[in-house]
Formats: sequence, structure tokens, C-alpha cells
Amino acid sequence: MNDSAPPLTLRDLAGIGVERLKGVGDKKLASLHEVGVHHVLDLLTTYPRRWVDRTNECRVSDLVPGQEALVLVAVRSVSKRMGRNRRSIVEAVVGDGSGRFHLVFFNQPWREKQFREGLQVALFGKPEVYRGGLQMTNPIVDLIGDRTGKIVPIYPQSEKASLSTWEIAGWVEDALRKCEPRSIADPLPADVVRRLGMVTRHEALKSIHLPETYTEKEVARRRLAFDELLRVQTVLVMRKRALEREAKGIRHQVQGELVGRLRSALPYELTGAQQRAIGEIEADLAGPHPMHRLLQGDVGAGKTLVAVSAMLTAVQGGHQGALMAPTEVLAEQHAAGVRRLLEGVTVPDPGNLFGDRPLRVELLTNRVSGADRRDVLAGLADGTVDIAIGTHALIQEGVQFHSLGMVVVDEQHRFGVEQRAALRAKGDGDFVPDVLVMTATPIPRTAAMTVYGDLDVSVLDELPPGRTPIVTKWANGPLMEQGAWATVREQVAQGRQAYVVCPLIEESEKLEVASAQETFERLVHDDLEGLRLALLHGRMPSSEKESVMDAFRRGDIDVLVATTVIEVGVDVPNATVMVILDADRFGIAQLHQLRGRVGRGAHESTCWLVTQEVEDHNPRVQALVDSTDGFALAEVDLELRGEGTLMNTAQKGRSDLKLASLRRDRELVELAREVAFELVDPDPLLDDHPLLLDELRLLFTDDDEAFLFKN
Ligand code: ADP
Ligand code: MG
Repeated sequence: MNDSAPPLTLRDLAGIGVERLKGVGDKKLASLHEVGVHHVLDLLTTYPRRWVDRTNECRVSDLVPGQEALVLVAVRSVSKRMGRNRRSIVEAVVGDGSGRFHLVFFNQPWREKQFREGLQVALFGKPEVYRGGLQMTNPIVDLIGDRTGKIVPIYPQSEKASLSTWEIAGWVEDALRKCEPRSIADPLPADVVRRLGMVTRHEALKSIHLPETYTEKEVARRRLAFDELLRVQTVLVMRKRALEREAKGIRHQVQGELVGRLRSALPYELTGAQQRAIGEIEADLAGPHPMHRLLQGDVGAGKTLVAVSAMLTAVQGGHQGALMAPTEVLAEQHAAGVRRLLEGVTVPDPGNLFGDRPLRVELLTNRVSGADRRDVLAGLADGTVDIAIGTHALIQEGVQFHSLGMVVVDEQHRFGVEQRAALRAKGDGDFVPDVLVMTATPIPRTAAMTVYGDLDVSVLDELPPGRTPIVTKWANGPLMEQGAWATVREQVAQGRQAYVVCPLIEESEKLEVASAQETFERLVHDDLEGLRLALLHGRMPSSEKESVMDAFRRGDIDVLVATTVIEVGVDVPNATVMVILDADRFGIAQLHQLRGRVGRGAHESTCWLVTQEVEDHNPRVQALVDSTDGFALAEVDLELRGEGTLMNTAQKGRSDLKLASLRRDRELVELAREVAFELVDPDPLLDDHPLLLDELRLLFTDDDEAFLFKN
């Protein structure tokens, strides 16, 4: 290698196959490929799972019976036998300079092969006195092999691919040694690295694999995690700026009459949060760039009104608004709700005898057909439909708008980036419509920054006044389920209404409907005998659905037994009980959504979460019992599920966060976002940061990042 060659970039490292490393023959190469490690970059970003500090672990002579401890020992001997019930028992003797003790593994026959004599292992477990000596049963084992050094990295190993942590450590060490002469390039300007108090990329890569101290490893992790987050943020910021740059927006007329009329017609005052959100939206709408904003608000926070206000802003300047919902039921409900809000509102129409005409709101879903459909399509094309509400049908080919100015997408979590893009493309070519994305799934701020990092965010963090908090109870098993039905009967006796949500069956709507019908029959004939029940599910014709919903709204039905079609949007303030069956099949966010259907009026509401099996502990159900705050629940959700699921929708493939955690590394996320703006704003195509740009191109292969490849 040549000392004057430039430092190695990630692309360089991705171009060096692992077969070039010492000790990687055909067999090991196959094993590495099996675990997805093909080149040196893959290997160097295979980070240790943990680190064992030899100087700090306990010695055998320090072990105390009954107290969990970590010890570092060598294997002295191992043997296997069959116990009763043909269960395998592997026994080993392990020790260090200070003493020895016994290990027993039940049902882990492979331990016999794994525990070679002389092998170093780190064990975590609880020693007990057995036959006069100490013994650990089924401890947690980390193989260390024959690594030396004070702090030993433990890599994710694969029994199946037969890769041991010390083999991986050896190759990593060899790779790092080979990188040394040219060193590893740093995409961050040196002054930024210094200002952030970070170490260089090369330094960090060395220290994460071969730290001298724990602090060194932490400092390394911080830098490498920052790099991961910076890449994501840079892509998002570039996308955001590219959209702003390339798309001409409409300068909407925000001081018009329509919005004012809507407000003065409302039977209530806007909440402070609604006012703030509407203000933020209007500021965007008045500006030259198309808006691209996320409206986050807990269930019942009053997002619809904010959306309608935004659409009216477009209408009052002579443009059209569209609201896209994820399901037909929801679109239908939105249409009904928006019509109610806008009843009696007129728009100027010089061609009309009176100088104005009623504002026209139309529904467009796949169920609207024949002459009705032709009529709506014609109205969209000639501009006589002011507000269109619908499903994906709105963005199908053949749907043309006269002048689409404002697009609201409800319940983002079911819409992809592609759909948003398609709807934007419905603008008339000269300008791009403004987009407001609404979600009732509260996302912690840092996660929002990452998942929706190309959007600006408005938050409705305040519920309209007069809501009474919902009491949530867990019916843990069949006996307690009776409590739920008692609440329903009690409330109905007082003139209130109830929802029963049937078990979710993800695999098949048909099964779900069948189970809903079964639940319905059972309740009619047994637990809720004598009450007026109705069934609502996704396979019913929409006219039937509508008449059931209408009857429920009128109060002609006491109990609505439904599948999750009622998840979003249904608004019946007199409903005060919700019973969710098989609640453990739902996620936290979904349970929270469902629960939001009650607690909408002045009466105290109850939500019963029913689980079939009696359980000691169910963290998701417990979270709902403990809190009605959507943001707090979102944090718990993130905690329980990890961020993997969140990230999947936002980015794919190799750009996954390996070290960074949206949960633990909040401060780093914010820092990365700041730095991304700092780099991108003066240099939108990253001409001055070719290394960083190259990394993005290497690691983000999604079509969605097309703008990275422009130029
Ligand atoms: P979200 O879509 O955020 O879940 P909605 O827009 O459906 O909430 O509003 C929930 C309910 O609150 C509706 O009945 C709506 O009429 C009512 N509402 C909205 N804003 C206010 C307000 N400022 N004061 C009182 N009630 C409101
Ligand atoms: Mg809503």
C-alpha cells in the first residue's frame, strides 16, 4: 500500500471483499456471506454486542452463592449425558487462577461442542451451593476464545454459520491494521468534528472494536451513531429543500372571508393548539413554497377542523381542496362531518344570479359509480366541486382537478410516500398543491424528526374542553369479562351507548367477519340479552353500514358490535363504554385509537380491555390502563417495540441504524438534524462535501432518494 494514497472511503471499504483478510478461506467466506458480511465495510460495521472488561469482572473466589455475577473463566473439562425424559445434560468445570466451579446446562446439547477445553468464556449467572461446591445452571455465555487485551469485544456470533466472536474479532483487527497506512476518511469537516467534541471516524472505528477503556468505547459509539443519524437527516433535509426549491407553490389568500365565516359559525371556541396549528399552516400557505406539513394530534384533538380550515383557505382563493382517507368508511364519515361543518357556506360565483353558490363537497371512492361518478369527475375538472373527499380513488388516473390547491392526507400511517407524491402530481403542472398530513398516532419528537424528517410538524397537544377522562380497566380472563358487560348494561340503563370491538384477525377479513358475527350472536343471546345490538363490519354493503351508523348516532342502537372499521373517525358523544375483545391482539397505538371513540362527551367513559388468558403481566394493556396520554403511550410503544418497525417505513436496506437509537440518542438526533441543515443550506447538492454525498449514494439505494443522484 501507498502512504500517499488518499484515505479509504466507505465506498473503498465496500469494494474490498472479506476474503482478502487473514484466515478467511472458502469455508469461512461462505459463513460470513451467510450472515450478510461481504466486504470490509460490512465487517467493520458489525459492531460488538457488548464488551467484557477483564480487569473488572469478578474472580471465582469472589463468587457469592445466590448472587448474580459475571465471571471470566477458562473451560477445564466438559461432558454430556442423558437425564430423565431424555433431556440432555451438559456439565462443565470452569475456573480461573483463584478457583473453579461447575456448570450445568439442561437441554442445550450443543454446549458440549462449544465448550472446548481451554476456551475462555464470560459467564453471567447465579452460583448456588451444590454438593459442597458452587454451581451455575444455564448461565448466559459469551465466548471469548483466546483474545487478549484488557477489554474484549463480543460479536454477534452465529452457531449456524459457525462463526465465533474471536474469529470475527481477529478479522476486524486485521482489517483495521490494513486500513492503517491510508487511514479511514472522515466525511465531516474537521472543524465540525472538533466543535462537537467528537473523535474522527477512523479513531471511532478503532475504538469501538478495540477500546482501551469503556469511556473510549462510548466516545466511539457516539461518533458512529452520530454518523448514522447524520446520513438519515442529510437525506431528509436534502429532500425537503429539493421539494421547496423545485416546486412552485400557490400563494394562497389567507385573509379571505370563508375561513372567518367558518369560525364564526362554530358553536365552540378553537383550542389554543388549533389556533396555533391553523396559524402555522396559514403562514405556509401564504408563502411561495408548497407546504409539506405533518399535523399530529391525539384522538379527539380536533384535527378535522384544522384540515377543513386549510382546505377552505385554498377554496377562498379559487382553488380546490382534497381530503384523502385510508378507508371508504372513513372517507364517508369525513364527507358527512365536513358537510355538516360547512353547511350554508357559499362561494363567490359571478356566473350566478345571486353572485354566489353553495360550497360543494363531494365524495369520491370506488363505490361512487355510474352517473354519480361522472358528475363528480366533471365537477372536479371544471372546478365546481370545491372540496373532494375520498380514498385512493382520488389519485387514480382519470381524476382531474381544475385547480387542486390543498391536499389533506388523513392517518398517514397507512399511506406511503408514493401516494403522497401521486396526489401532489394532481396539481395543474404550474404549481404543486400544499400538503397537510394528519396523524393521530403520536410520535415522539425525535422519531418524528427521523421518520417524517422532510415534513414540518404542527402538534395539537390540547384537547377541546369539557372532555372527561376515560377510565380504562383490564378484564384479565373470562371471569373479569363479566365486569365489562355489567358496565355496558349499567350505562345503557342510563341512556348511554357502547361499542364492542371484535377480535382482530390480521390474516383474513373473512375470518374476522365470522368471528364478529359469532360475538354478536353470543352477546345478543347471552351477556347483553335484551339490549338493542347491531353489527358493523367491513364486508357489509356501504348503504347498510351507513344506516347502522346513522341508527347508532340517533341513539336507536344501544350497542354497536364492530370490527376495527370503527377505529378512526366515528364520533358519537353519547357512547361511553368501549369493550375491546382480545385486546392483546392490538398494538398500543391501535388500542389508543379505538379507545378514543369514547370520552367524547360530558359523561364519564370507560374502556374495558378484555384478554382471554389470565396473565400476570401484559405491558401493552397495562400501559393503556396507566395512561390516556397519546404521547406518553407512543414512548412506551417505542420502548417495547424498539425502533425497527418505525424505521422500516422511512428507509430501507443498508441504511438501517445499527448503533443509534431514536430512543436513547435523542440529543444526537437533534444534533444531527442541526448539522444536516448547516451542511445542506449553503450547499444544497453537497458539492463541498463529496465524501458525505458519496456515502449517501452508497447506503441509500431507494428510488425515493432520486434527488441524490440528480445533478
Ligand atoms: P380528531 O380527528 O383529532 O380525532 P375530531 O376532529 O374528530 O378529532 O374532533 C373531535 C370532536 O371534537 C368533534 O366532535 C369536534 O366537533 C369536536 N371539536 C373540535 N374542535 C373543538 C373545539 N375547539 N371545542 C370543542 N369541540 C371541538
Ligand atoms: Mg379524525
